[in-house]
Amino acid sequence: MTADAMLELEQISAAYGPFRALFDVNLAVPANSAVALVGPNGAGKTTVARVCSGLLAPTSGTVRLDGQDVTGLPAYELARRGVAHANEGRSVFASLTVEENLTLTFRQAFGRSGVAAALDRAYELFSRLRERRQQFAGSLSGGEQRMLALARVVVLEPAVLIADELSLGLAPTVAQEVYRVLDKVRAAGTSVVIVEQHLDRALAFADRAIVLDTGEVVWEGPSAELDSDQAAAFLAGPTATAG
Ligand code: ATP
Repeated sequence: MTADAMLELEQISAAYGPFRALFDVNLAVPANSAVALVGPNGAGKTTVARVCSGLLAPTSGTVRLDGQDVTGLPAYELARRGVAHANEGRSVFASLTVEENLTLTFRQAFGRSGVAAALDRAYELFSRLRERRQQFAGSLSGGEQRMLALARVVVLEPAVLIADELSLGLAPTVAQEVYRVLDKVRAAGTSVVIVEQHLDRALAFADRAIVLDTGEVVWEGPSAELDSDQAAAFLAGPTATAG
């Protein structure tokens, strides 16, 4: 067990039916820090992310949250304990306004009296949402819908945020805004695990990086130590790294 890890995977294997997707993966996410999961397509990044948030139960190994064994607990139980999962989907209610979407979540989390402060926090993080507060969520751009979905998660101040491909398909300026918010979320005390296709963005944001290939960790260390040639070779997959 790693001291001071907020989230830890130890010797995790996972499978989809007969297909084994992860082999003895170790991952430690210290408090107030960010870890990037990188690697070629199909390497297992999303599978690791899903194990972290309880969406997929591992076939062996241990998952610890703040030192407690939470292996095999379902996603709703991990969510209750402070693990939030945000992905590239747009989980918003299209026929409700931005503010109604936020209010629904915040009323449930903070009670009626906590809604106003939570809305302020959401609008402080995402000024575009303030501008569009009365607009139906279904009429927002894809990037704005993702911000709305993210706002519903981060204002709850999770202990750990699993951010799976949050910048996928976004215009560079919108992706920058998402990362600006993730920076603030980390500064406020949330540990972040990101899955990101855009390597430079991932390494610039995260304190540490884990490189996966065909379900195994092939490199692990401070992001600054993964130089771009080495990273490009990893991302090209097993054939390119073999020689
Ligand atoms: P990408 O960058 O393409 O999303 P990834 O690194 O996130 O890739 P995963 O999505 O974790 O990779 O997939 C790891 C392996 O598990 C792949 O071989 C994939 O085909 C397989 N896999 C993923 N989801 C399922 C599923 N629901 N059923 C069967 N196999 C799956």
